[in-house]
Amino acid sequence: MNSLMTTLVVLLGSVFVFGTLVGSFLNVCIYRIPAGKSVVRPRSFCPTCGKPIAWYQNIPIFSYLFLRGCCFNCGVKISLRYPAIEALTGALFVMVVWSFGIAPWTPFYLLFVAGLITITFIDLDHQIIPDVISLPGILVGLLSVFFVPWITWVDSIGGVLLGGGLLYLVAELYFLLKKKEGMGGGDIKLLAMIGAFLGWKAVFPVIFLSSLIGTMVGIPLMYFTKSSGGLAIPFGPFLSVGAVIWLFWGSSILSWYFSFF
Ligand SMILES: [Zn+2]
Repeated sequence: MNSLMTTLVVLLGSVFVFGTLVGSFLNVCIYRIPAGKSVVRPRSFCPTCGKPIAWYQNIPIFSYLFLRGCCFNCGVKISLRYPAIEALTGALFVMVVWSFGIAPWTPFYLLFVAGLITITFIDLDHQIIPDVISLPGILVGLLSVFFVPWITWVDSIGGVLLGGGLLYLVAELYFLLKKKEGMGGGDIKLLAMIGAFLGWKAVFPVIFLSSLIGTMVGIPLMYFTKSSGGLAIPFGPFLSVGAVIWLFWGSSILSWYFSFF
């Protein structure tokens, strides 16, 4: 390996480790925010035996492997989801730095993917998207225009209005037709947040991508669980996946699409 390659590997490795540490904190947020608990205090503890987890038992991914997925004190199985979220956060952080470099705009995209991961798993667990993430998310997205050269005020504010407004209309229409709520207010605020970060031009493609992935996942899920349309699949995770795809590959998808004309 030449020195440039070594530098790159060390840099991306450090970003990955940083991402797993943030992921470890996101696990705490995912567990505590829906319960209305503080994400800072008390220190992490085992939900079964209540014993606090020492720092050396709380090293992302490694501790899980070292303790073979069990609590050090009581031996209860720890969900594989904890190290998986740590690894996912690490991987997405590496992709952010790989795609956007290390620059004044990088922290905004790190916050964006961290917020999307937290929202995805809370929505999967509880079918809610907490305002304490999506509303500050909208604000941070709007503030990013000061640091991101390729997003303007019009893009970002337009993204909030189009993202929020569009899903609001869809939700109202669904309510009128089916007389029950299909899409929650949380999804509306999430799409407004996505619009704030990615701009209004990303809103339609993100909805399209999420619906596509949602259909691909939802139909087999309904088939295997023998549910007929009444199955409540949260839409937030699909919106988040769509947003991440658009963040990293949006411009590639656009140029591929326009190559047909
Ligand atoms: Zn325990």
